[in-house]
Amino acid sequence: MDIILLGPPGAGKGTQAARLQSSRGMVHLSTGDMLREAVAKGTPVGLKAKAVMEAGELVSDAIVSALIGERLDSAGGGAIFDGFPRTQHQAEALEMLLADRDRTLDHVIELMVDEEALVERIVGRFSCAKCGANYHDRFHKPKIEGICDVCGAHEFKRRPDDNEATVRTRMAEYRAKTAPILPFYEDKGLVRRVDGMAGVDEVAAAIDAILDK
Ligand code: AMP
Repeated sequence: MDIILLGPPGAGKGTQAARLQSSRGMVHLSTGDMLREAVAKGTPVGLKAKAVMEAGELVSDAIVSALIGERLDSAGGGAIFDGFPRTQHQAEALEMLLADRDRTLDHVIELMVDEEALVERIVGRFSCAKCGANYHDRFHKPKIEGICDVCGAHEFKRRPDDNEATVRTRMAEYRAKTAPILPFYEDKGLVRRVDGMAGVDEVAAAIDAILDK
């Protein structure tokens, strides 16, 4: 099964994708994670993407479509696309990448959210530098301040693009370029909607109900 999780930054796509990866053995394909890895390693793609990402704008369709193309075969048992596609061009590129492998999308799950609440969600988020466990300044602090609940590490990190000004640009990019691809999937009868403002477990249950139908 191949599915897309669609929604603005901070809607919970990454959280739900990671959960689906461990519960169903599907593969989480996040172009944001791939690009951050490329930036950290200083690859040619990373060098091109860094400033664009820091500004909250979109990296070129050709770069992200190529990243997905490289990983798709490793997700032969099913992929969860998180943060891709983000433009009509990318949606069409994904159709072709899947068709080349005799695959088609099963569901496009839209996480419905309130933008103002998302800004607070994103600006407060941080993660363990060692194991990647996610935390939030208000909603999910480590049980002991400064120590990761999962692995006990003392180092945490924040994404450089998780500041309010950049988040507003990322939201605007979503509204202008990503939300308009929904009708493309609606015409194919693929769109399912979930209340992304509910708790993580409730959102997970709603997604499970769609996948198990
Ligand atoms: P994300 O982790 O999905 O929030 O992505 C972080 C940043 O990476 C975005 O703000 C964009 O600059 C870039 N990015 C990630 N995925 C894409 C994509 N599919 N198309 C263009 N840019 C992307």
